Amino acid sequence: MTKWVYNFGSGKADGRADMKNLLGGKGANLAEMSNLGLPVPPGFTITTEVCTHFYSNGKTYPDGLASQVAEAAATIEAGLGKKFGDETDPLLVSVRSGARASMPGMMDTILNLGLNDRTVEGLATRSGDARFAYDSYRRFIQMFSNVVLDIDHHNFEDILESHKEDKGLRLDTDLSAEDWKSVVGRYKDVVQEKLGKPFPQDVKEQLWGAIGAVFSSWMNQRAIIYRRLNEIPETWGTAVTVQSMVFGNMGNDCCTGVCFTRNPSTGDNEFYGEFLVNAQGEDVVAGIRTPQQITVQGKLAQNSNLPAMEEAMPVVFKELDAVRHKLEGHYKDIQDMEFTVEKNRLWMLQTRTGKRTTKAALKIAVDMAAEGLITREDAVRRIDPSSLDQLLHPMLDPDAPRTLLARGLPASPGAASGRVVFSAEDAELWVKNKNEKVILVRAETSPEDIGGMHVSEGILTTRGGMTSHAAVVARGMGTPCVAGAGTIRVDHNAKIMKVLGQVVSEGDIITLDGSAGEVYLGAVPTVQPNVSGDFATLMEWVDEFRTLGVRANAETPLDAETALKFGAEGIGLVRTEHMFFDHHRIVAVRQMILSETEEGRRKALATLLPFQRDDFAQLFRIMGELPVTIRLLDPPLHEFLPNTEVEIAEVAAQAGVDIPTVKARSFTLHEVNPMLGHRGCRLGVTYPEIYEMQAQAIFEAAALVSKETGKPVSPEIMIPLISTKAELDMMKAVVDKMAAQVFAQSGITLPYSVGTMIELPRAALMAGKIAESAEFFSFGTNDLTQTAYGLSRDDAGPFLEIYREKGIIEHDPFATLDQDGVGELIAIATERGRKTRPNIKLGICGEHGGDPASVEFCHRAGLDYVSCSPYRVPIARLAAAQAALGGGGSGTK
Ligand code: PEP
Ligand code: MG
Repeated sequence: MTKWVYNFGSGKADGRADMKNLLGGKGANLAEMSNLGLPVPPGFTITTEVCTHFYSNGKTYPDGLASQVAEAAATIEAGLGKKFGDETDPLLVSVRSGARASMPGMMDTILNLGLNDRTVEGLATRSGDARFAYDSYRRFIQMFSNVVLDIDHHNFEDILESHKEDKGLRLDTDLSAEDWKSVVGRYKDVVQEKLGKPFPQDVKEQLWGAIGAVFSSWMNQRAIIYRRLNEIPETWGTAVTVQSMVFGNMGNDCCTGVCFTRNPSTGDNEFYGEFLVNAQGEDVVAGIRTPQQITVQGKLAQNSNLPAMEEAMPVVFKELDAVRHKLEGHYKDIQDMEFTVEKNRLWMLQTRTGKRTTKAALKIAVDMAAEGLITREDAVRRIDPSSLDQLLHPMLDPDAPRTLLARGLPASPGAASGRVVFSAEDAELWVKNKNEKVILVRAETSPEDIGGMHVSEGILTTRGGMTSHAAVVARGMGTPCVAGAGTIRVDHNAKIMKVLGQVVSEGDIITLDGSAGEVYLGAVPTVQPNVSGDFATLMEWVDEFRTLGVRANAETPLDAETALKFGAEGIGLVRTEHMFFDHHRIVAVRQMILSETEEGRRKALATLLPFQRDDFAQLFRIMGELPVTIRLLDPPLHEFLPNTEVEIAEVAAQAGVDIPTVKARSFTLHEVNPMLGHRGCRLGVTYPEIYEMQAQAIFEAAALVSKETGKPVSPEIMIPLISTKAELDMMKAVVDKMAAQVFAQSGITLPYSVGTMIELPRAALMAGKIAESAEFFSFGTNDLTQTAYGLSRDDAGPFLEIYREKGIIEHDPFATLDQDGVGELIAIATERGRKTRPNIKLGICGEHGGDPASVEFCHRAGLDYVSCSPYRVPIARLAAAQAALGGGGSGTK
């Protein structure tokens, strides 16, 4: 017979802490505390398997459950010498949910179950406190009616309020036993009226009603949404814990509270918590009374004039402090505990791993390693890599009030406020002429917005996903970005945006939280990141453990410096096209692409050469001897075409041709599917002079810097969007030709390598062949995802969200690598590439390079390095260390 029910309490238990999947977090830890000999009110846990059975069998229970519950209840009765439903000394229980992962407040709880018109009298006599007994009964009726009988809270709250008003009473504590008796009578009347039958008096019926309601609450709307937001699978189900009640509200020698073994917001090793005298658990949560501090130190820190538990109940406090040490020593992590003191006797109701801020998580991990409680490996495994984001960017002041306007994707972390502008030009005007901080709001951005994006504090788009232009560029710049906020309608002409009936005009202030994907009305204050000593210490340990290299995608000196500051070991991708949009160069770029002759193109390219040389020289100077992978021009020519009349006129003037000629040429270059069109190496094949100019600039810059520093600069030149070896060979010949030319002219010969991006499925499949020519591969997983799925990285955001909601995909494949499909292409290319060229260098430079789960995959796939935006370098380093250590990554979510 399957065991559906697990007992605990009285110094022993059937379960253990490592049985969370079966008993839920609460049930498993209650069992563990019982086994540790801590004072736990006896009870039992009905397993999550019963929940699974319940939902797959039309809300029915498995055979044998009823008898196992009856047996477990009898064990509690025997242990406590009380009986369920007994009129003289009734056993009362709480019925609570408990899933594998904590879902605070999302499911239902019932307290004081077992009270009815007769047992309440028994409780009154036994406790010698009729007021307490009737107060408990009315709480039970209200909770049970709400959760099990589906009668809204307000029916009961109205009765209590009107009773208080009639009697001129202010607080609940002002009500006498007679008052509560009368309230109880009226509560029962409500139930009779709403249901047409009386409030259930049979305690067994109460128990099964409560168990059913708690299982049912697994599927309530709150729980479903919470699970979706926190990626908790529906299949886990909840356990139900039935536990004998202890009362913190039986007088002034009773209390109830919540405490942490360390301070969860700073991480300081100090006992931290709050309690309420003469109160039941929900009073603490409800926040009606001001709680008191557990310790005198806490009381002083809070400037509280209420006595601390350490002063008011010194004996029990000592006991609780001993429990604190015992639990932390046992679990080797910060614990969040709930307790009740009934008539000076301490009872532990719950313990779990304490949630903490990232700052606290780092301090706790580093301190615990120093204390010898955990190893450095454990410390590194403890930190959720994504949570480091909080430390690397300014964030919203958690205490500041705010008005939410819209939600989108958390495309680039950090928080910023500014005045709304609707075009890149306006962004530059407002910043330069009016000296204002701006937030650029666009339907989506394009490369020509780069100037405006650069000067903006934050970027908000209403379309596009995590790898949309706005998202990628903003992440690279470290600028907060919320992308794809679909409820916002932008009217560029009127310079307004509308959200749910609210109009925001140009110049109005909004705030973006790019870490949460939220948009707020008005200015919300931010707090600066605090990269403390613990952060640095932990990152040193991280580097000891990881084997995967971490580089950054960077193209500006600022990016490169930021990357170095965050520990990058080189640049894995310089996207040279970003350099082309600078307003000093864009006209020459346009002139080049619109020219119909090679001669015309070469003329325009000659203007660009010194700019490019200078760009590369700056990067080489900053990066010293670290590797720098420069990718030759990649984006569709289409993206550089002039759009406005002014832009067209500018190009015409500079090229010395008339406006209709520019327009006609522009028209012929226009593409229906630019992302699959004239881009990548296809540009180099059709216009080799472009790649010649870029290669010349790279080698001249390398020679220059190498002369300056006396140290070799060894560029890695990368050809994008290869699908055949022939393309690569042709482009490599261009690069080699320019290298020979520059080396001959400068008298310096430098080492360099030529490799390719693997970002098309054909390239992955042909990797064995391509590796005959390529000295390195860098997986461009943005395009590889786009082409493997046939999904536009710029347009897929909105419907991918629906796919996620419908469970077709688990994650946005542009944010977290699709390990099954795209990952298989990487595995194939890795194997075939290495077979041809065993020492081929392999890296990844798509957005996935900074995503912890994808980094873990890259480690397993045997890549040499990942490359990500500078701000994600620490995240990638930590994820790489966790991958090397194994068993990490769960972090402190
Ligand atoms: C990629 O495709 O993954 C890549 C890094 O290149 P880009 O995002 O510039 O197309
Ligand atoms: Mg690409």
